[in-house]
Amino acid sequence: MGSKVTADDATAAGDTPSLLAVFAHPDDESLAAGGVLARHTAAGARTAVVTATWAADTPRAAELAEALRILGAGTPRMLGYADARAPQSAPGSTRFCEAPLDEAVRRLVAHVREFRPEIVVTHDAHGGLTGHSDHVHTHRVTMLAVQAAGLERLYPDTGAPWQPSAVYLATHPHSAVPALSDLARAGKAMHTVPDKRITATVDVGPWLEQKLAAVLAHRTEVARGALPGLIATLPAQARRRLLSTEWYIRHDPVTATAARTEPTA
Ligand SMILES: [Zn+2]
Repeated sequence: MGSKVTADDATAAGDTPSLLAVFAHPDDESLAAGGVLARHTAAGARTAVVTATWAADTPRAAELAEALRILGAGTPRMLGYADARAPQSAPGSTRFCEAPLDEAVRRLVAHVREFRPEIVVTHDAHGGLTGHSDHVHTHRVTMLAVQAAGLERLYPDTGAPWQPSAVYLATHPHSAVPALSDLARAGKAMHTVPDKRITATVDVGPWLEQKLAAVLAHRTEVARGALPGLIATLPAQARRRLLSTEWYIRHDPVTATAARTEPTA
C-alpha cells in the first residue's frame, strides 16, 4: 500500500507485499480491511488473518472461515480468547482484555514468525469506528507483537525472528463522516481521526463485491442486526458509499537506518 492507492496502481504479482491482518472479532477483517485483503490476494500476494476472540468450534468461526475463503486469506488463525461482551464466544477462556499481556503477545508473535508478513494491518489506537474495548486491546497487542517478533531474545520458542516492515492501522478520517451517514442514523458510534493523519487512501471499489460477500458471510451478525445486518439492508449505492474506500495510518516499527539523535551527557 502507498498513499492515494487506486485500482490502476495494482502491481504485478510478486511486487505486492504479503499482508497479515490482526483484528478483534470475526467480521472486523471484512468490514475494516476486506477490500485491501481481496486486492492483495488478487495481485498474487500472500494474505492471512489472525482473530483475537471467539473459539474455533463456534458458529462465528465457521462464518469467519467462509469470509476468508471469499477474500482468499487462507484459514482462520484464532487466538481463542473470549469477547469482552460475549462470554459464550469462548467458554472457559479468559476475556482477551483481561488475559496476561505477555501471553497474548506470545501467541501473536508465533503467527507473525510463522507467516512472515511484510505488512501487518490492525485496528487504530482508539479501536476503529466503534471504539470497542477488544479493538483497542488488539491494537496494543499487535503493536507490541510486531516489535517483539523481530527480536531473537524474545519468545525464542515461537520461531525465528521476523520483522514486518510496516503496520497499517485501519481508520476513518473526519471527512468520511458524511459517507457514514447511514451508520450515524442507525445510532452507531463514530470515532474518526484528523485527515492529516491518513497515509493511505485505498479505492477498493473493484473488490467491493468480494468485500460485501465476506461481510455478509458473518450470518449471525447479519441476523442480530449488528453492522453486517445494517449493511445487508442498505441499497447498493449506500453500500458502495460505505465500503468502497479504506483508510490507513502507516506506522514504521523500525527506523534503525534513519538519522538518530543521540542523548548527550
Ligand atoms: Zn469488532
